[in-house]
Amino acid sequence: MKFTRPLLVNAAIAIFVGMTSVAGAGEEKEPTGYTDTPRLPNSPWRVHDDKRPRPRVVTPGTTSADDHPGKPPSDATILFDGKNLDAWQSAKGGAAGWKVENGYMQVVDGSGDIVTKQKFGDYQLHVEFAEPSPPVGNSQGRGNSGVFLAGLYEVQVLDSYDNLTYADGQASAIYGQSPPLVNASRPPGQWQTYDIVFNAPRFADGKVTSTGFVTVFHNGVLTQNYTALLGPSVHHALPTWKPHDLNMPLALQDHHLPVRFRNIWIRPLTDQ
Ligand code: MG
Repeated sequence: MKFTRPLLVNAAIAIFVGMTSVAGAGEEKEPTGYTDTPRLPNSPWRVHDDKRPRPRVVTPGTTSADDHPGKPPSDATILFDGKNLDAWQSAKGGAAGWKVENGYMQVVDGSGDIVTKQKFGDYQLHVEFAEPSPPVGNSQGRGNSGVFLAGLYEVQVLDSYDNLTYADGQASAIYGQSPPLVNASRPPGQWQTYDIVFNAPRFADGKVTSTGFVTVFHNGVLTQNYTALLGPSVHHALPTWKPHDLNMPLALQDHHLPVRFRNIWIRPLTDQ
């Protein structure tokens, strides 16, 4: 016997779906994603799929970073303590062109990505960031930056507080590959934390032998649970693997927006 729902139930479901689809994400006035991109492997979704459900909103708890930078563990390598960019250089070569003031570094539009002078393989990484306040722009144009593991695999930095964008492009996404499990963003202007565990990809004979895996806690909330990488982050396309050394610099992205960073430290898990 064919089961049919009473009309009243259908109407109630429609109202509920309508309510949840806009909760905390702002009203979608126009598409933020794409419908013409390639399908991700082993997934029903396309790269930056406009129809992919946006992660639900979670209000994060408090962390030591709310009012002040937390204190790094004793064995951490300090990459930025609020004073200078000595551990960094421009990805284009030469001195890092971002400005340092009031205990944070800030992206300087056009200065380019910055990369660590030191190279790292597998690691635990702590990064704090703050999005411009008041917010400017929408979707990918609001507070975009990025933490590039091995300089290639982007944990997206974006103001995803009440800012709709495609699921695999919001804060804490593995850009173009994997949306965060939830949206744990804080409002612009507030300091936020990423605690990342990076198991770097391995290569042999020009081929990938282990994809590499990324775990992320965003403001203390798990957002990537040992997510397998598909390759280097790219826009509007499927990634393709390019073999590289185990030890690579860490990079931060100049996406032309004045995002701030502070209290960056790393604990390598492999011998350098
Ligand atoms: Mg980015």
